[in-house]
Amino acid sequence: MKQIDILIVGAGISGAVLAERYAAIGKKVLIIEKRDHIAGNCYDYLDANGILVSKYGAHLFHTDDEQVWEYVNQFNDWYPWEHKVIARVDDKSVPIPVNITTVNTLFNEKIENEDQMQRWLDSNRIAIEQPSNGEEAVLSKVGPVLYDKMFKHYTKKQWDKYPSELDAAVLNRIPVRTNYDDRYFSDKYQALPQGGYTKIFENMLDHPNIEVLLNTDYFEVKDQYTGYEKLFYTGPVDRFFDFKHSLSEKLEYRSINFVSETIDQAFFQENSVVNYPGQEVAFTRIVEYKHFGNQVTDKTTIVKEFTVDEGEPYYPVPNAKNQAIYERYQREAEQLKDIYFVGRLANYKYFNMDQAFKNALDLFYSLETPIQAVEPR
Ligand code: UDP
Repeated sequence: MKQIDILIVGAGISGAVLAERYAAIGKKVLIIEKRDHIAGNCYDYLDANGILVSKYGAHLFHTDDEQVWEYVNQFNDWYPWEHKVIARVDDKSVPIPVNITTVNTLFNEKIENEDQMQRWLDSNRIAIEQPSNGEEAVLSKVGPVLYDKMFKHYTKKQWDKYPSELDAAVLNRIPVRTNYDDRYFSDKYQALPQGGYTKIFENMLDHPNIEVLLNTDYFEVKDQYTGYEKLFYTGPVDRFFDFKHSLSEKLEYRSINFVSETIDQAFFQENSVVNYPGQEVAFTRIVEYKHFGNQVTDKTTIVKEFTVDEGEPYYPVPNAKNQAIYERYQREAEQLKDIYFVGRLANYKYFNMDQAFKNALDLFYSLETPIQAVEPR
């Protein structure tokens, strides 16, 4: 068997960053990946209609972190893309995050400036000093009417929980705007990789010191790979420990059932992502991929997202109960020598892409001294 210094389970963001960094300091890296492709949930490809689609849902990169932005720019060219989301509410299309246009459209208001918008919010919101869950977070920002129309049922569909059963942080991902800004994010850098995310991973992993073993379940082969210096595990944390701390109460994850359709017309909807926050449909949103990068094709591909319990885990479910279960695993993980848990599933954290890059880079630099760790390629 070939010598391996660094064994990595999973070829998503965390695994690819660690592989790239360790290969750069001369370590021999093996990545074991269960799926038949690299790039984790960022994986994208050209579909039968010639449209670049993401297999596991739209991925919109945004960051305020200079180090992460510099890092990702080494592996591809990026073009500016400020993501916008439309929500279909009461048969109207409105911007989300809530802004002046949202309120004017839904309530026939004539708000024209930030002061008026602030007054509207103040007269609707419920003053809650320290929101302790997602419902309180939304009520304290926009009040009960918008809560019902835009957040309550979307959240139930997404998590199979009402906002009151989730951490405030989940709903606080969505800001409220007192102006006309209709961008989903407000970070300094908002961009998409030219030709897709998969290319980035190909470039990160294109190094003589890196070998990738696809279609391989680590748990089926782990006895064959033992002589490593360090193991980085990026899969679900409970799986690593054979679910031993969650036999009576499961550590919850949400999965998504992506239902793809070809529509024989140039465009299906006015925007890349249209959310359906109401109860009239079971899916949360429809993504029309050809909007990203303004792709030109005769037909279009749309993907409806139905969030489900069973299936590949995509989202940890942030609330106190799951956090308590996770912490039992975390305590055990911390006892292990030379084994590191990293990423959304292994850290049970609802990381955005840039946070996943940052977290993996930070881990690398915390383990390797700056002298050993050469600057990024
Ligand atoms: N959310 C909502 N209505 C929306 C959009 C989001 O209630 O139209 C809530 C919902 O609970 C969702 C959370 O805000 O899970 C975070 O939304 P985000 O778009 O960040 O979710 P992601 O894109 O990660 O699925």
